[in-house]
Amino acid sequence: PEPVPMPMPMPVPVPVPAADDCSVRVAVRLRPLSSEERFAHCEECIHRVEHAEQIVVGKHSFTFDHALSPDIGQQEVYDVIAAPLLQQFLGGYNATILAYGQTGSGKTYTMGSQSSLNLEPEEHGIIPRFIADLVDGLKEGGDDGSPPVSMRVQFLEVYGEDVNDLLNPLGSKVSIREIDGQVVAQGASEVPFSTAEEVLELLEKGTLHRSTGATNMNARSSRSHAIFTIVLDKGESISSGASE
Ligand code: ADP
Ligand code: MG
Repeated sequence: PEPVPMPMPMPVPVPVPAADDCSVRVAVRLRPLSSEERFAHCEECIHRVEHAEQIVVGKHSFTFDHALSPDIGQQEVYDVIAAPLLQQFLGGYNATILAYGQTGSGKTYTMGSQSSLNLEPEEHGIIPRFIADLVDGLKEGGDDGSPPVSMRVQFLEVYGEDVNDLLNPLGSKVSIREIDGQVVAQGASEVPFSTAEEVLELLEKGTLHRSTGATNMNARSSRSHAIFTIVLDKGESISSGASE
């Protein structure tokens, strides 16, 4: 039989606001179908428009600062999303990466907020790559050449009404307070580190204390939100957060 031609998604011209003067950027990442989905004869229903930061769902198209197709790997996602933020972070600015999406859409995989022990290096997500580059960047003298006074990590889980300290699960309760206009997680531990390996161990340890396994497609996992924060002191406190 004649092959039925696939309708090609066409770019739709839409006015795109200049991203340079906006401190928030939004990227969409399409993940490949899983083997289960392929086994169930699922088909891809979202397409990225070639040469445009745009995706097409049925008759609708959506424009983002970045649209990343399913064949884009972890390194490229890191380069596009996180590497520019690392430069700003070393320059003294706060930076946050927030992953949002349905359970099973690839938040944990993209952020790398799970154990990386059983992953090939090219499968590592944003957090391990960010840490490795951060430690390297500081070794090279960072932005202004002065060594950091201290580096610490904090790893929290928001689960329903509770905030759990994943690095100190048996410690006192964490509460979110606003002090002098700053939102702080009071009672949460901050663990000092000096090497990338130490952070990966902490990530490992913290992941074990999450209320759910990383890939469980169930109601529990959709209520569990992890916040991984790196605090870098160079005299004045600056911090970078990654959450999903
Ligand atoms: P979420 O955290 O959003 O619930 P996960 O990150 O756990 O979703 O992803 C669900 C499953 O899909 C995992 O098995 C993960 O390894 C896989 N996955 C997600 N994104 C990708 C991708 N871009 N390439 C390959 N596998 C992926
Ligand atoms: Mg997850």
